[in-house]
Amino acid sequence: MQSSDVIVIGAGVGGLAAALSLLRAGQKVRLYEQVYSLGEVGAGLTITPNAGKALLYLGLSDALRAMGSTPPAGVMRHFSSGKILLHMPQDKSEEKYGVPLYHVHRADLHNALRSAVDALDPTCIRTGMALESLDSRTDGVRLRLQGGQETTADWLVAADGIHSRARSELFGSDKPNFTGYVAWRGLIPGELVTPDLMNPPLCMTVGPRRMLMRYPLRRGSVVNFVAVAQRTTWTAEGWSVRSELSELMAEFHDFEPHTKKLLELTPPDRLFKWGLFDRDPMPTWIHGSTILIGDAAHAMPPFTGQGAVMALEDGAVIGRAALLSSTPAEAIHRFEKSRYARVNAALAMSRGRAELYFSEDPLQQVRRMGLSMAELRTTYDYDSGNVRI
Ligand SMILES: Cc1cc2nc3c(=O)[nH]c(=O)nc-3n(C[C@H](O)[C@H](O)[C@H](O)COP(=O)(O)OP(=O)(O)OC[C@H]3O[C@@H](n4cnc5c(N)ncnc54)[C@H](O)[C@@H]3O)c2cc1C
Repeated sequence: MQSSDVIVIGAGVGGLAAALSLLRAGQKVRLYEQVYSLGEVGAGLTITPNAGKALLYLGLSDALRAMGSTPPAGVMRHFSSGKILLHMPQDKSEEKYGVPLYHVHRADLHNALRSAVDALDPTCIRTGMALESLDSRTDGVRLRLQGGQETTADWLVAADGIHSRARSELFGSDKPNFTGYVAWRGLIPGELVTPDLMNPPLCMTVGPRRMLMRYPLRRGSVVNFVAVAQRTTWTAEGWSVRSELSELMAEFHDFEPHTKKLLELTPPDRLFKWGLFDRDPMPTWIHGSTILIGDAAHAMPPFTGQGAVMALEDGAVIGRAALLSSTPAEAIHRFEKSRYARVNAALAMSRGRAELYFSEDPLQQVRRMGLSMAELRTTYDYDSGNVRI
């Protein structure tokens, strides 16, 4: 497609990947982000080989190698006895898929994407610009930003996350579903952690209806953990809130001493609690000249670790779709056609795994998780930079 004027809404991983891919495809891109100062917080993220391939397509394989740690062999432990229930062998992704599986700090990934966009067009990212309303027709889009500024473009890629304004403007305001789970995510400075608390460095501790995963990031300078438990409701203001350590400790009070000692080291400003929400599949992600991508289109529970990964794949594919199409309409339809089944399969798998991961009996959980790894790995094979679209 000859250079079109395209707006991307949202500078999360999905929006940044899309902007980068579209710039590389020769499009004129403006990315509007509501926050004034970009600085993704968040915690660890698993970059599975399919996400690695999207980053390879986006020209970020060196950056990925520099920021990522490949996980060592690990274990699953019983929550109260600490007994090892399963040895998880060293990951073999590089051998199997040609790209290793990495753990990265989300902020590092975000920075790498942002720098790559800035390098191609330093005027592309515009912060402090929140989408307020949107009129999307087949011949273009008109949008109004907070503060009253209006602008137009040939087409729009909405990557504004699970509470997407673009989605509610164009498709009506359905609410995300609370999955019945909450997650605490914390980062602990590596220097506070004694070696006995990280033996081995990669560990999942499984208890009745709860589980905790921890691993080192940034070459061990921080320890990342995510701890998940069930809740009947989510009443907090917002979907991610700062949490008191006492609440986390009360929830995991019956876990073995090493785990509790580790959790107690979390600095108060590094502990966040998330309500886990998803959305039902939509019949289409297209309205007029707008396409929804990432969580705006298909938010999924994090039980396959594929939400941000799907957003990265979306980003890679939208640029390829622009390259291969002669009009924006062709590009968004090509995108939807090639992504729809894959993304909805990942959503269904993520939902199904909530049942697998959380039972009363830790042994049963471990057995089920072991068996379901093969299914999860079927998502790793996809190469968004080369798949036929
Ligand atoms: C506890 C937890 C653990 C997770 N773990 C993993 C994992 O291990 N692996 C994985 O792949 N995924 C994981 N995920 C999912 C992942 O975080 C999301 O799927 C991913 O962030 C979606 O990216 P996105 O770019 O679509 O949206 P977001 O990251 O939500 O970005 C949306 C952006 O749009 C901006 N925005 C919003 N509204 C507007 C507006 N009106 N105008 C302008 N800008 C706007 C926001 O400020 C934000 O910058 C996890 C999620 C949770 C909650």
